[in-house]
Amino acid sequence: MDFVEQLKSSVRIENVIGEYVRLRRSGPSRYMGLCPFHNEKKPSFTVHVVHQFYKCFSCGVSGDVIKFVQEKEGLSFFEALKTLAERYGIPMPKRSQYSDDESRLKAALLEMHEVAQENFRANLQGPAGETARQYLAKRGVAPETIEHFGLGYAERGGRALLRLFEQRNFPAAQMEQSGLVGKRSDGSGYDRFRHRLMFPIHNEAGKIIAFGGRALAAEDEPKYLNSPETPIYKKSHVLYNLNRAKEAIRKEDRVILVEGYMDAIGVTAAGFGAVVASCGTSLTAQQVQTVKRVAGPDHSHRIIVNFDPDAPGMNAAERSINMLLEEGMRVRIMELDGGLDPDEYCKERGAAAYQQRLEDSKGYFYWLADRARKKHDIHTSEGVVAVLQSLLPAVQKIADPLERSAVANDLAAYVGVPAGMVIESFRKAAATRQEKPLERPKIVLRQDERLLLGAMLEDAAARAEIVRELESVEAVTRFASRRIFQTIFALEAAGDRISFENVHARLEEADQNLLAEAVLNQEEQVPIEAVAAALESVRHSDTQQRREQLKARIKESERAGRWEEALRLMGELEGLAQSARGR
Ligand SMILES: [Zn+2]
Repeated sequence: MDFVEQLKSSVRIENVIGEYVRLRRSGPSRYMGLCPFHNEKKPSFTVHVVHQFYKCFSCGVSGDVIKFVQEKEGLSFFEALKTLAERYGIPMPKRSQYSDDESRLKAALLEMHEVAQENFRANLQGPAGETARQYLAKRGVAPETIEHFGLGYAERGGRALLRLFEQRNFPAAQMEQSGLVGKRSDGSGYDRFRHRLMFPIHNEAGKIIAFGGRALAAEDEPKYLNSPETPIYKKSHVLYNLNRAKEAIRKEDRVILVEGYMDAIGVTAAGFGAVVASCGTSLTAQQVQTVKRVAGPDHSHRIIVNFDPDAPGMNAAERSINMLLEEGMRVRIMELDGGLDPDEYCKERGAAAYQQRLEDSKGYFYWLADRARKKHDIHTSEGVVAVLQSLLPAVQKIADPLERSAVANDLAAYVGVPAGMVIESFRKAAATRQEKPLERPKIVLRQDERLLLGAMLEDAAARAEIVRELESVEAVTRFASRRIFQTIFALEAAGDRISFENVHARLEEADQNLLAEAVLNQEEQVPIEAVAAALESVRHSDTQQRREQLKARIKESERAGRWEEALRLMGELEGLAQSARGR
């Protein structure tokens, strides 16, 4: 048995997934829970313990235990394998057939970031770091804060880091993959970050995986330069400062979202630990899911968005918020007066003032309503309609119908809409939210095909019989699941092992979903009588179908005056009826 199979058979998928999802037993070999890959209120995420896979009937994700860990932890296949083996105390084969190249590369890249960090920090303390130190002093960053956040300085020269890597014998290809070294068209390398204030970016475990660099000369563009995506840095998964903030996020049961490195640093230094920064890129669903996971299942998912008060900041806020709502976060907006960003605000007005603004932060919908009220005259009915119309898309994003209608009522009252037609249509529009485009029309398997599929996977004797009986039956070619049947027929003919996994691996995605559905809707052991009945039902439907076809052809022949043909077909129809009776 190869190691992957061994691992999969020695861990219990429901235990592994149960660490991330609250699972409830929903059948002898099934568990259900709320899908960890999309936001839902009613469980459609299913785990099958015999066939060892999971599937969400709402968003469609599915896979085995390794894929689950890969997706949830953002790991490669090999890393997920290793993680599971370590977590469950299963010894990995020494000379694994699974190439360890990827984890070796990642280890080297992490080491290079450590080397870079050491260099940047030393630079900041040394003579070269003068400008950077002045900048930090001007922004009021205390020495202990500089230390706490590991701030540094990348030299002007442009080859310092490159030399360090060369001295330590990192191969050129690896240097490039680290994102810290660029390559000119003549093949020579150079340091990506030059004359910049450096902010190390950590993964959740606290390892440095990337850097952000702020320009120190006015003419240097861009103002902020970030590491490119590398094997250890996936931008869309990482939030700045999450590694330090996670304890506070859990304890305070909230998270403050700011835009920039300096904001996260300034707000933390003022004593608010539960702060993360999106750092220029617009917030992604994965980042939010990471926060939710770090916060834990008992967290109420309160997020306070504290972006810059300028127009781009507000637009970024609106964009992020739509996604936050879809992810089921409870969003509040914190507004700072005086045109100050969060870092400036903490320094100029002090922690108590920031605390006050934090407490005054408005529920997202009221903030949105205020914005809309400023744009429209709510003393006219057109104005009221326009305000409500602009609120509708956000209200419709709330997943929970009860909450949605409560928010709709509150908002109507807040905007000051008199009872009547307008408010009724607003309520109605809010209630009948459109379904997510993800949900496709469902293909329904016939009861008999579902049962036969299940039986073929469970039981070799039943399978042999079913294959023998059905191989030449035409009705099978009209099954929604015909390609699954054909795959099993082919495997059986070739004498290959037939298991859920083996069949699954040979199917297109749509058919994989059908297979999962068949197995998940299946009672445990299919009784032999039920198999016989299903076979009979298929045969019957086959006869039925051929009868219908013959009748149609007979009519057609009669209409065309081809009497001889019509007679022959009638004979066939009669023969069919006889053989059906003879069974
Ligand atoms: Zn899902």
